[in-house]
Amino acid sequence: MSTDIARNVEIVRERIARACERAGRSSESVILIAVSKTVEVARIQQAIAAGVEHFGENYYQEAREKIQSISAPVCWHFIGHLQKNKARGVVPLFEWIHTVDDEELAWEIHRRAQAVGKRQRVLIEVNIAREPQKYGVLPEELWSLVERVVSMPHLQLEGLMGMAPLVEEAEQARPYFAALRRLFEQLPPEHRVHLSMGMTQDFEVAIEEGATMVRLGTAIFGPRA
Ligand SMILES: *Cc1c(COP(=O)(O)O)cnc(C)c1O
Repeated sequence: MSTDIARNVEIVRERIARACERAGRSSESVILIAVSKTVEVARIQQAIAAGVEHFGENYYQEAREKIQSISAPVCWHFIGHLQKNKARGVVPLFEWIHTVDDEELAWEIHRRAQAVGKRQRVLIEVNIAREPQKYGVLPEELWSLVERVVSMPHLQLEGLMGMAPLVEEAEQARPYFAALRRLFEQLPPEHRVHLSMGMTQDFEVAIEEGATMVRLGTAIFGPRA
């Protein structure tokens, strides 16, 4: 992966388009989220100049400084683990929060969204591979959380997010993405909008399995320090 961000964006867009073609989908059905954790503002600006409109950040403090210094009208996605005490800062800055995984956190985001007069778009994170070191609800706990989240008027549930385990070959991630898609398909239609899955190692397989948002860091910005 080169350090030429514009070139990387072009390559990634082509790969997304080809994966969509294989899946019989339009390439407009996939949102490219450039994951800019640890990436400095100047390089984010290069991605913006290359046409990227969605960015993902994992850490509130780091994100706040960067978002405040970028005036371009881009859309920010919070994709890291969210601690309850950071919800107050995160809600006004981010269009989407991908990582709702328990009821208390959902209530806190709801409370902060209400305070700023916003309906916060959220996804529920599912720990699809049941990895003990990862966040996310277990599949069997998903439906009770969905029920709670859709009852909160200042949250707008738009779908699910998940990660495949680290695998040697992208193809090995397929069963996890397929499992997440099956859960997604059971959501009520108005909440079945976005399926956030696929990273640099496996995004083409994720698209073939129905991802509508892919989160790519390394493929766009190169390896992180
Ligand atoms: C860092 C990160 C990514 C991007 O990872 P790459 O392998 O660099 O594409 C995607 N999603 C989440 C939740 C991340 O933390």
